[in-house]
Amino acid sequence: MPLTEKIKKDVASLREQINYHNIQYYTFDNPEIPDGEYDKLLRELQKYEAEYPELISLDSPTQRVGAEPLKAFGEITHAIPMLSLGNAMNEEELHDFDRKIKKLIDEDEIEYAAEPKLDGLAISVRYENGILVTAATRGDGKVGENITQNARTINTIPLKLIGKNFPAVLEVRGEVFMPLSGFHKLNEDVLKNGGKAFANPRNAAAGSLRQLDSRITSSRPLEMICYGVGVIEGATLPDTYSEMIDWLQSFGLKGSPERAVLKGSEACVDYYNKIAKKREQLPYEIDGIVYKVNRFAQQKELGFISRAPRWAIAHKFPAQEVMTTLHAVEFQVGRTGAITPVARLEPVEVGGVIVSNATLHNMDEIQRLGVREGDTVIIRRAGDVIPQVVSVVENLRPEDSKKILMPDHCPVCQSDLIKPEGQTVVRCSGGLYCEAQRKEAIKHFASRKAMNIDGLGDKLVDQLVDENLINNPSDLYKLGVDELSNLERMGSKSANSQ
Ligand SMILES: [Zn+2]
Repeated sequence: MPLTEKIKKDVASLREQINYHNIQYYTFDNPEIPDGEYDKLLRELQKYEAEYPELISLDSPTQRVGAEPLKAFGEITHAIPMLSLGNAMNEEELHDFDRKIKKLIDEDEIEYAAEPKLDGLAISVRYENGILVTAATRGDGKVGENITQNARTINTIPLKLIGKNFPAVLEVRGEVFMPLSGFHKLNEDVLKNGGKAFANPRNAAAGSLRQLDSRITSSRPLEMICYGVGVIEGATLPDTYSEMIDWLQSFGLKGSPERAVLKGSEACVDYYNKIAKKREQLPYEIDGIVYKVNRFAQQKELGFISRAPRWAIAHKFPAQEVMTTLHAVEFQVGRTGAITPVARLEPVEVGGVIVSNATLHNMDEIQRLGVREGDTVIIRRAGDVIPQVVSVVENLRPEDSKKILMPDHCPVCQSDLIKPEGQTVVRCSGGLYCEAQRKEAIKHFASRKAMNIDGLGDKLVDQLVDENLINNPSDLYKLGVDELSNLERMGSKSANSQ
């Protein structure tokens, strides 16, 4: 069939519908039609494009799959530099920031736009007449890498803006990041295929975005949330940052779902605490809060110091990753006899608490990390998760570092260790003869998930077993009043300390 005007119109209409539904789905989490209906539209468009390849254009929703690998990234110069922000490490520095601004612009109270600071990579995406034309990394702020092909594979970056009132030229700035669910799944896949896992979502996002083969980027679950603009032609910005984000959203770009407008620095502190509490439930990693003076007229008045804006600041959360020394590795025996290597660390503050131990899971993990006693390691602690050793800083390895060896016998009961064929876990063969296994079995029995025995904490169990008063869970019920009241005195301090 020859290419008719009607077909051209049908194709344009299909693209418009698909683009619209893509944005509703990915950007606004608000699909209007079932997936099946969407697939039908997409298949119809693919059929047309297969029959009339001359109709394929770069802004077609079928063109998100990545392209031929590049030999190297080109460069893109940012017409308006991409800035970095000053930091506030604590509340006092935030109040100082607010005081300085009030003085500079002679106002009693400042309105701030606040949003979580995503832990990803800053990029700039340029639209001309609503069509995505280029995308660049931040680079040194003046010149970045041309990652257009890769940006085109990210679903929250529209290939074509929606609505009618977008500017003729719009450079939008945002953070590209990998949501946690996608990060965990990616690492599972990487490990399954014998690769090296990414240390954190930021590294995974960076590694994915800076792929010369955009087909690999296309397979990675990246997203972008917008927080600024560069060059704009053919439109005037709204009066405030918060209105600007709404404005960008009306074109199908995504702003932070957590963003808020606040009056004064006390409200900023409340917001910081609220988001800090919510941090572990968010589907992505954040490392602080960004506050910006909301009114653009005031931003302009405040200007810049060196290369950082005077009107914005990042209030950082306590770091979740820090460097410390791994002094030694000890082997712990679990409830089922599993032997777990535990790293003894030079105590260090991470995620807001002091950490002196981190799990190393098993010998395979020790081998994968290539860690030795004496090494400088990077420790990560997020939320209530047990601190992990993420990686080794190999160029800081001391000359007297020591290889970590699996012990020959159970470190607690000296029984033989067994490692079933094909398993990574090594176990103590002592069963309930092993004091460590006995303790863990009783702790498990008393725990909240099992019998939920109030007041029977880990330390008290250790004490009961050490005193030879109990050897198994059923002994708990044979404890007499005398033994218990004796114990009450001995163990009252430690009973609730688990
Ligand atoms: Zn043992």
